[in-house]
Amino acid sequence: MTEQNAIANYLKYTGKKSFNFTTALVDMDGVLFDSMKNHTRAWVKLMKKNGIKCTRDEFYMYEGMTGRDIIKMKFKNGAGKNVTDDEAQALYKVKTRYFTELGDVETMQGTLEVLKAFKQAGIKCVLVTGSGTQAMLDRVDTDYPDIFDEQRITAVDVKRGKPNPEPYLKAMAKVGVQPNECVVLENAPLGVQSGHTAGCFTIGVTTGPIPEKDMYKAGADMVYKDMASLLEAIPVLLEAFKSE
Ligand code: MG
Repeated sequence: MTEQNAIANYLKYTGKKSFNFTTALVDMDGVLFDSMKNHTRAWVKLMKKNGIKCTRDEFYMYEGMTGRDIIKMKFKNGAGKNVTDDEAQALYKVKTRYFTELGDVETMQGTLEVLKAFKQAGIKCVLVTGSGTQAMLDRVDTDYPDIFDEQRITAVDVKRGKPNPEPYLKAMAKVGVQPNECVVLENAPLGVQSGHTAGCFTIGVTTGPIPEKDMYKAGADMVYKDMASLLEAIPVLLEAFKSE
């Protein structure tokens, strides 16, 4: 798939006449930070302590859901237990502690350069994450200085996390932009599904073990194998958006 084809295809299925790229809606885990390894380890530890069977890989597939939703789903399916909101919150705190104990995570290689290229092209960058992990949220402006708009969407802003389109719809409403102005940057199928359903042009970058085809299946308009490949494609993308 070429960038030109992907944009033409997007316009066709959305019925829009043009795409006016003004805003990048950017996911956090697996995009800004190489944090998924530790998140999946922390999830497995929490589940094992509670006698719930799981594999580490499945948590890559759940990425994008809020912690509360993952806990409710796993306890229901794995132990037949209906977890209340308060219980889910307490369990999420434990999971966050396990995550923190695993140590600092690195920033994702190449993402800063990608976002800088967007900024240089006059694109506004907005954080859209289902995460409620304050330690990570606090690092965004330190590790990505002068990149992000002060408006952001996090776990506290949404009732229904990804794959529901709510996080991206809320972000667009907050910033005052339309779907055909927005590029979503995601690394997980459920996040891609959320951005796609919200009507945005959605880019998936396979920064973890999830294969490219799963990103396309979830509705990605373009998929890149890493941030370096996306960076290389940015001039082409910007040109293709302009000419449509
Ligand atoms: Mg992610």
